[in-house]
Amino acid sequence: MQRLVSPPSGKGPAEWFNGPVWFDQIYQGAEPSRARVNSVHFAPCARTAWHTHAVGQTLHVTEGVGLVATRDGQVIVMRPGDTVYTPPGEGHWHGACSEHFMKHLAIWDGTGDSEVPETTWGEHVSDDDYACADRQRTGA
Ligand code: MN
Repeated sequence: MQRLVSPPSGKGPAEWFNGPVWFDQIYQGAEPSRARVNSVHFAPCARTAWHTHAVGQTLHVTEGVGLVATRDGQVIVMRPGDTVYTPPGEGHWHGACSEHFMKHLAIWDGTGDSEVPETTWGEHVSDDDYACADRQRTGA
């Protein structure tokens, strides 16, 4: 066995994230594994832009309170221990709720084809769309 050396924490780039987001790369499988695992920390109100994953993605919340929302208006409030799966090609975003930070493991797979992106990014989530999703947390 070996203890793996962790790359330095990275700041989520502004074109893909809104607000302070930091990630640690936990695991990146070498072929034939295509597994990827990141630990991602979102400040309150911080979230991803809209995006899709070519091979789907599983989120597992370890701390805080988070939101994941899809293009059809479905919202899931995520708390520690919750696991949420988004299938291949489903447009969605994820992030912290407005009153708490949130940390999740993001688990996904490479495509095995350098021409096919693992994640396809779209526009930022508007403040109105974010507020609408966040209200579902409190039922307000
Ligand atoms: Mn995602």
